[in-house]
Amino acid sequence: MFGAIEAGGTNFVCGAGTGPLDLIKEEFPTRSPAETLERAAAFFASHQVQALGVGCFGPIDIALGRITTTPKIAWQQFEMVAELRRATGVQRIAFDTDVNASAMGEGRWGAAIGISDFLYLTVGTGIGGGAMVNGGLLHGKSHPEMGHIPIRRDAARDPFPGACYAHGDCLEGLASGFAVEKRWGLPGRELPAEHEAWQLETEYLAQALAAFTYTLAPVKIIIGGGVMHALSYARLTEQLHKLLNGYVAAPDVVPPALGEDAGVLGAIAMAQAIVAAPQA
Ligand code: ZN
Repeated sequence: MFGAIEAGGTNFVCGAGTGPLDLIKEEFPTRSPAETLERAAAFFASHQVQALGVGCFGPIDIALGRITTTPKIAWQQFEMVAELRRATGVQRIAFDTDVNASAMGEGRWGAAIGISDFLYLTVGTGIGGGAMVNGGLLHGKSHPEMGHIPIRRDAARDPFPGACYAHGDCLEGLASGFAVEKRWGLPGRELPAEHEAWQLETEYLAQALAAFTYTLAPVKIIIGGGVMHALSYARLTEQLHKLLNGYVAAPDVVPPALGEDAGVLGAIAMAQAIVAAPQA
């Protein structure tokens, strides 16, 4: 069996299995590192695994196996891989971002089977993206942070200055679930379907999709996350076409086929990949 952890800022999901058909999982809230890893260790004590894939909230340093500058103070500079080895006894650990893990999952079992160039984006409390490029995850200097690209904002129409603590009105600052709640004073799930919030949201996301289309040329863009439950994929696609204006062909914009299991299944795929790879 292979192990998986989807480490989110709100919840941890632990999983064991070999794929979607035999996946066993357990979800619990993300608390202090000590308390949270103790629960993960208990899960892997009853589900023995030969390797573990970890998709983690970020930013992270993939090479060092560490969380870096998260606003969650108790987790800043936390040595995730070393501490998981100690807590679970599992030595072979693959470590990446939560969105890169989800991209792995969708590529292996979901909406992007057989596609070598695609993106996985999540639009929830925060916004993040993982990119599969030429059949491999894009890493570069650790990993991309697609949620923090600059966005054009018309301050007369949208005077909200943005909610990103680092950049103000970047994509996440304007269009994350956190930003929606800050701007309108209500969580997105309580805003009606015809609220102006959703037209603005669609336009900001379409700007980001256009930027990613021009820079990475994905065949498909998979978008999940809580905020997407309120949006129309058809309207988002229409807005993207409008911005691209026929200059290049638009990618398909689709929901994740694996739903909420994309991350944990992707982490299983990551664990399988390190077992299959020759030992470093
Ligand atoms: Zn930002």
